[in-house]
Amino acid sequence: MQRITILGATGSIGVSTLDVLARHPDRYSVYALSAHSRVEELAAQCTQFKPARAVVGTAEAAAKLEELLRAQGLRTEVEYGEQALCAIASAAETDTVMAAIVGAAGLAPTLAAAKAGKKVLLANKEALVMSGQLFMDAVRDHGATLLPIDSEHNAIFQCLPHGYGRVPAAAGVTKVLLTASGGPFLKRDVSTLENVTPDEACKHPKWVMGRKISVDSATMMNKGLEVIEAHWLFGTPAEQIEVVIHPQSVIHSMVSYSDGSVLAELGNPDMRTPIAHALAYPERIASGVAQLDIAQIGTLQFERPDFNRFPCLALAFDALRAGGTAPALLNAANEVAVAAFLEERIGFRQIDRVIARVMDELPHGAAGSIGQVMAQDAAARAAAERVIAGLLKP
Ligand code: NDP
Ligand code: MG
Repeated sequence: MQRITILGATGSIGVSTLDVLARHPDRYSVYALSAHSRVEELAAQCTQFKPARAVVGTAEAAAKLEELLRAQGLRTEVEYGEQALCAIASAAETDTVMAAIVGAAGLAPTLAAAKAGKKVLLANKEALVMSGQLFMDAVRDHGATLLPIDSEHNAIFQCLPHGYGRVPAAAGVTKVLLTASGGPFLKRDVSTLENVTPDEACKHPKWVMGRKISVDSATMMNKGLEVIEAHWLFGTPAEQIEVVIHPQSVIHSMVSYSDGSVLAELGNPDMRTPIAHALAYPERIASGVAQLDIAQIGTLQFERPDFNRFPCLALAFDALRAGGTAPALLNAANEVAVAAFLEERIGFRQIDRVIARVMDELPHGAAGSIGQVMAQDAAARAAAERVIAGLLKP
């Protein structure tokens, strides 16, 4: 029996994870669940999965959850805050941690899971983008197992001979090809992007996801973060990572080899496939996802990304090449800009401008410790808010 903690259980990845777990009650039990503010959803999950512990964001949310659970006679222990998240991620009673909190808030608990030597299923790409080498060192030094949930990285993992970790030269890998759907604005007239609404940006043609990653997909910053994620997971240098637009999202990514072979992983676009793969690895379990009917799909299309349409992609490559804390600056500025866009404080095309200004203004430094990374994260958030305030001036 594998005992699972889900960080971010009420989100899109959290809900898909619970859907897979519910299909295999003989294999998996739920040790702990976390949410931030969606207390009623978390209470319903506790009713179904009966975890020993549940964590929320604030004391008020904890009091509300406590009340809901006690009314049903559930004994789940209720806690709140970052320390409690780190505790459920590193407890001796859990084997596997699904890291599915969105954004930088997930870094501390995901790192705690790695340092406790857990099997870490990584959806929270921002945590790895921010901490890069430090995170990979923690995984190695504490004997943790890291399995990618992001569909592209899970696909690459499946197409590599040795899984994650620095791919040896003898493996003959020449390139990893990250596929991207291109999001909702792939074909839209660029001059009209200025006026798109948050709801339009969140209407992804192929994947149903949380709002932050949906906006990231529309700007293609999501692919940019994934380029950095691939670099750290597989040790691939920037020049060996290529992004290719593939609107059908049937091929989830590819690896090309020196003999001319290109291996790809295909499937219906549903996150339960990579989740089930990582949960059961190296075995295979049913995920609830329908088998791919390739003949019915008929045509697969590919094209190169237009960096003028998607400046965030170029910014991410720049940050990866700059190294140090540059990816952490990029991530923090992006989180602030996306939140401002979702709150309709800035327009869609101002997201990349805010990030570019922050990257220009703030010198990046060495990422020698998590303290340094967090200091740069805070500085970039403050700088992004200043830039946004400047944009709002009449
Ligand atoms: P959602 O927004 O749907 O869910 C986020 C989860 O994190 C929720 O449980 C939310 O709680 C919780 N949360 C939000 N803010 C905080 C905080 N400050 N502290 C603690 N918990 C918090 O996101 P997704 O599920 O879409 O994405 C999760 C992660 O997975 C992201 O890093 C994303 O990039 C990655 N990912 C997602 C994919 C997808 O298909 N959705 C695909 C590949 C990667 P509450 O519900 O209470 O707000
Ligand atoms: Mg992805």
